Amino acid sequence: MGRTSSGNRGGLQPGDSDYKGSIKNVESLVKMKDAAMYKATKEAISRYHAVLGVRERNVKLATLSAGTLGVQVSSGGKSEGIYLNKKYFNQGAKAVKAQTNRGYTSGWHTKTNKPLAHTVTHELAHATWNSSLSGANQKAAGKEIQALYKKWVADKKKTGYGKYAHTNVDEFWAETVTKTVHGKSDKYTNRVKEICKKYKL
Ligand SMILES: [Zn+2]
Repeated sequence: MGRTSSGNRGGLQPGDSDYKGSIKNVESLVKMKDAAMYKATKEAISRYHAVLGVRERNVKLATLSAGTLGVQVSSGGKSEGIYLNKKYFNQGAKAVKAQTNRGYTSGWHTKTNKPLAHTVTHELAHATWNSSLSGANQKAAGKEIQALYKKWVADKKKTGYGKYAHTNVDEFWAETVTKTVHGKSDKYTNRVKEICKKYKL
């Protein structure tokens, strides 16, 4: 995009915390073709705001690289926006649900009760904290998030988490926040809530 940015894709391929693809044909969410998918996406954003507070408001549709479901862009140490892959979201609710459920069954994604909300919630979580954000609260929270990540990696008894969360600390954060909002609570989701509150993430 001709700018210094780093992105986080809620995708099915590893390495999404370093998205190098393009973001083109940006459009408003209302252009989403499937009504059920649009409704589920808007509800997921509202739910995030209700549970963890209003944060990133700039959520758009865009043409992204194939295989990338969504991307959160940080620029100059701040979150700039979230772009959802219009090709993926325009498949409609039925197809998106089926694909996310495959991610749960295969053990790739961290399980939630809201497959349609997964990608947008994951990207909203990247916007609240990721290792490229440079705000004072984000930096302070980062130390606690890193410590929690280490503890979580070493815990062989945790349940419900997918392999994708093991990619790096950014994906751990995004998937665990998604579990916090839409999944089964545990000591990690409780801690995530505390960190969000303490640092106003
Ligand atoms: Zn991600």
